Amino acid sequence: MMNLAIASGKGGTGKTTVAVNLALLLSQDEQVEFLDCDVEEPNAHLFIKPKFESVKEVGIPNPVIDFNRCDFCGRCAEVCAFNALAVFQEHVMVLPELCHGCGSCAYFCPQKAISEHDRTIGVIESGSVNRIDFVHGCLNPGEAMSPPLIDAVKKMASRDKMTVIDSPPGTSCPAISAIKGSDFCILVTEPTSFGLNDLDLVYQTVTRLGLPSGVVINRCDIGDGRVEEYCRKNNLPVLLKVPFDRKVAGLCACGEPVIFKFPAWQKNFKQLYDQVRILVEGAVYNEKNDSY
Ligand code: SF4
Ligand code: SF4
Repeated sequence: MMNLAIASGKGGTGKTTVAVNLALLLSQDEQVEFLDCDVEEPNAHLFIKPKFESVKEVGIPNPVIDFNRCDFCGRCAEVCAFNALAVFQEHVMVLPELCHGCGSCAYFCPQKAISEHDRTIGVIESGSVNRIDFVHGCLNPGEAMSPPLIDAVKKMASRDKMTVIDSPPGTSCPAISAIKGSDFCILVTEPTSFGLNDLDLVYQTVTRLGLPSGVVINRCDIGDGRVEEYCRKNNLPVLLKVPFDRKVAGLCACGEPVIFKFPAWQKNFKQLYDQVRILVEGAVYNEKNDSY
C-alpha cells in the first residue's frame, strides 16, 4: 500500500485537482483513503462528495496555572520554546495561540502548579463515498496551530489502503506535517517565475525529508521552459503536463472531477500513477540493496 502526498509551494496551482482526480481514478480498482490535510481551506470534499458520518473535536493541551501553588519562579517561561508564557512578579500569563501543547512547562514546574486542559483547535470530519474513505480537518477560524490537527487527520488513516494526501501549500510546519512519512510526493507547479521559485522551495523540503518526488506542470502552455529545465538539472521526473483548458477550468470551478467528463484525462492520470508506482518500487529496491 502506498502513501501518496500531493504538495505545492503555493496555493492555486491545481494541487487539489490532481489529488482528487488521482484518488477517483484509483478508486475504480481499489479502496482508497483520501486525507485532506489542507486544514485551513479544505475543499476536496466538494469534488469527492463524501457522505460525512462522524465529526470529532481536536484539541491541544494548554497550561492552566494554580496560583495557590505558583511561586512565580519563572522556570515555565524559561523552558517554553515557543514564548507562550510570561512570568511577572505576581502573575503568569499564558498565550494560548503560541502554545504547541508540548507539556514541558508542566513537567518542569517545581511547584507542580501547572495542569493541562484541552483547547479545541478544529474538527475532523470523516465519511465515505463508493470506494473512497474520506477524512478532512477544519481548523477553527483564526487558529494558527494547524500541525496537531493535520497529525490527527493522518492518525485516522488505516495503514492497509492506498492513501492520497492533499497537503497544505507552502513549505512550513503544516506542509511538513502533511507530507512526512509519505512514500512519494507529487509536486504541482506552474511554468512561471513564481512557480519555479516555489517548486525549488518545496523540492528542497521533500529532499531534506528524504522523500522521492516528481512534478506535475499545470497550465504548461502559459509560461516558459525554466521549470522543465530545473527538473532536468535536478533529475526530477515530470510526471504530467496539463495545458490550460477553459472547459477543464470551468469543471473545476463547479466542483466536477475532470476524469469523468474527459476520458483522455483518465489515461493521463493512469500514466501519472504508473510512473509514480515505478519510481516508488525503484526507491524501495534501491533502499533494500543499499542496506546489504
Ligand atoms: S514554573 Fe510553576 S511555579 Fe514557577 S512560575 Fe511557572 S507555574 Fe509558577
Ligand atoms: S505546553 Fe509547551 S508550548 Fe505550551 S506553554 Fe507549556 S511549554 Fe510552552
